[in-house]
Amino acid sequence: FSRYRTDFHEIEQIGYGNFSRVFKALKRIDGCMYAVKHSIRQLHQDTERRQALMEVQALAALGFHENVVGYYTSWFENEQLYIQMELCDHSLSIRESSPLFTEGDFLVALHQIAKALQFIHGRGIAHLDVKPENIYVKNGVYKLGDFGCATLIDGCLPVEEGDARYMPPEILNDKYEHLDKVDIFSLGATFYELVKGTPLPGSGPQFLNLREGKIPLLPGHSMQFQNLLKVMVDPDPVRRPSAKELVENPIFEKARCMARGK
Ligand code: ATP
Ligand code: MG
Ligand code: MG
Repeated sequence: FSRYRTDFHEIEQIGYGNFSRVFKALKRIDGCMYAVKHSIRQLHQDTERRQALMEVQALAALGFHENVVGYYTSWFENEQLYIQMELCDHSLSIRESSPLFTEGDFLVALHQIAKALQFIHGRGIAHLDVKPENIYVKNGVYKLGDFGCATLIDGCLPVEEGDARYMPPEILNDKYEHLDKVDIFSLGATFYELVKGTPLPGSGPQFLNLREGKIPLLPGHSMQFQNLLKVMVDPDPVRRPSAKELVENPIFEKARCMARGK
């Protein structure tokens, strides 16, 4: 018996991670399309299960927000964890996203993901894997997804770090304070990469500069925007804005008007 095969008609594979595959699937009973993610390896050990369960426990505890990828349900089958989620169009992975973004487009996307972070941080959860490929777009709305590294901000739980390229210096030094500010750094690094249009290298000067708060000029972009990205990747977590401060930054006034329909 397979709950997945019984309840869903698989359409196609839409993505994969190191430990998971994601399929577009039609749910037979309601006739709607979903993204169903399942682990590839069998989760035999309790520790493996506990880490995998963090993702669904975070999603379930959070509840609905327009800028967070929607969560429906989850179950175990053959020792694999299945997660039924809202199906999005694509991610902001620079391989998939259009290079025709203007500064206004970037501000709209940044503002929406900042709102997602304000929401999750307000509920005591840090994402810890903010990066272009974990930001999804659906009908022009940006959504934060992939809560596989999510943890409690108060730090009682062990930390599973996300992609090292987007991690701030304090994480590389094994200092786990201000976990909400880790997300702010990753968001700054994410948009720095999106604006540059080239991947952040896993090592080398660009990587180190970002961690030291020295980000080169971004030609064609306003100083206000560049200064905002710069303070988000400040090496000192205390100097980075909180998600709430970010959301309320006057630079988004225009983005707010655009969201209201110009
Ligand atoms: P792992 O942690 O196991 O390495 P992962 O956590 O990176 O994997 P996800 O980021 O959740 O896995 O998903 C992998 C890929 O599947 C994504 O990069 C994306 O292409 C696709 N995908 C995931 N969720 C969705 C969704 N809700 N809608 C559309 N596509 C999705
Ligand atoms: Mg991912
Ligand atoms: Mg993950």
